[in-house]
Amino acid sequence: MYLYNSATHKKEPFTTHTPGHVEMYTCGPTVYHFAHIGNLRSYIMEDALEKYLRYEGYDVNRVMNITDVGHLSGDSDAGEDKMLVGARREHKTVMEIAKFYTDAFFDDCRKLNIKTPDTVQPATGLIPEFITMVEGLLDRGYAYVAGGNVYFDTSKLTRYHIFFDHDEADLEVGVREGVEEDRNKRNKNDFVLWFTKSKFEDQALKWDSPWGVGYPGWHIECSAISLKYNGEYLDLHCGGIDNAFPHHTNEIAQSESYLGHPWCPQWFHVHHLNTPEGKMSKSKGKTLILTTLEEEGYDPLSYRFFCLQSHYRKALVFTWENLDNAAGAYRKLIARVAALDPGDGEVDGAVLEEYRRKFTDAVGNDLNTSLGITAVYDALKAGTNDATRLAIIGDYDRVLSLSLLEKAAVKREEEARSRQTASTSGGFTVEGEGDPEIDAIVLRRAQAKKEKDFALADRLRDDLKARGIELTDIPNGAKWKRI
Ligand code: AMP
Ligand code: ZN
Repeated sequence: MYLYNSATHKKEPFTTHTPGHVEMYTCGPTVYHFAHIGNLRSYIMEDALEKYLRYEGYDVNRVMNITDVGHLSGDSDAGEDKMLVGARREHKTVMEIAKFYTDAFFDDCRKLNIKTPDTVQPATGLIPEFITMVEGLLDRGYAYVAGGNVYFDTSKLTRYHIFFDHDEADLEVGVREGVEEDRNKRNKNDFVLWFTKSKFEDQALKWDSPWGVGYPGWHIECSAISLKYNGEYLDLHCGGIDNAFPHHTNEIAQSESYLGHPWCPQWFHVHHLNTPEGKMSKSKGKTLILTTLEEEGYDPLSYRFFCLQSHYRKALVFTWENLDNAAGAYRKLIARVAALDPGDGEVDGAVLEEYRRKFTDAVGNDLNTSLGITAVYDALKAGTNDATRLAIIGDYDRVLSLSLLEKAAVKREEEARSRQTASTSGGFTVEGEGDPEIDAIVLRRAQAKKEKDFALADRLRDDLKARGIELTDIPNGAKWKRI
């Protein structure tokens, strides 16, 4: 596969430290609120990346943190603890808030067919490891204690890696927003590894440490969690573009200084989902969540389809109209897959193999999921039998995860049910959605028309209309559907 690497600003062949095996790390959610659909865009694209690597035959070990501590509202060592803000808002303890929103996050992931990473580690569960890493950084001369806090000393680095090729506007989220300068810092870019003192004193969760009772800085959790579960050599690190700086820059600084060797060569950043008014950001309120889309009648997988249709390295604008278009295209695609007959022939292995190559050519070029979806439309028209077409689509769906075969099978069953109703009603055909009660009313109406009782026939049609049912006369029968 070729993947754009934000650390080198180039599209490069994907490589791994151990042949055939990928150590992959993903920055997980902060769990003080529901994930918004922008956050979910990042997780959908990272899921597609993991599944694509598995599709190519890699064995992947994927690790993700849950930020349930030490994430301050300013994103750069200042501001309030977001977890405590959430707890106060909902009159719950910080751990209750963390559990509630962690569960909600994984519910969303399930609905979006996002696979749970092999290891998911909440930050609060690994405090001793964070302390060990901070001690190591102090021992190696990369950190200092000032004003009760431990800071990373960026002046000790030969390179303070910054992913400088992304949009200025994207960077702003991660960069200090109205943050007062911390006078304990020796250099502008230094950052906190362990807090015992901050302007924000009533931090809810605190732990004992060699520097006093306090809590970890935000960046240390990802370095330490990855080290524990991925080992010393990480192949691929993922996150949203706002995480690139300062979070990922600081992770690199910590990990490489602690380990004494290069740490992670490949960085994958998903660009933002925006609204026409601007950025979607959890800390700025005004966000859309998956439940809202469901309440508006959208299948969560139509949101996945919407995301996969665009490239992860382009900002994506969310509007209801755009989502409507994607939802309509997704419904139609399922109908086309449903129209294929699974009993039509045997799977042709050679054709399947040829189409696998088409898919890897398309998606393996910097995770081009949009071309991956186009490949599904091509498979529908493949010059082969339906069994092979379905096998190709099922194979592609290992990466796309749009439940295409499952949904098509359900649709086929529904259609079979409604056809069954039609065949049991004698000379008059009722095509519907398989509801015997509605079929009976439609039949009564047909009977009334036959007996020239047009008043009753009209009344029955109006009754159906009031129930949201649209009736269309067809030769020797009638067709109904819910609208
Ligand atoms: P958070 O829970 O705020 O730490 O964010 C979780 C993930 O979502 C991180 O990888 C962020 O970089 C990413 N993210 C935040 N906002 C957006 C957005 N508007 N669009 C896409 N990804 C985002
Ligand atoms: Zn992280």
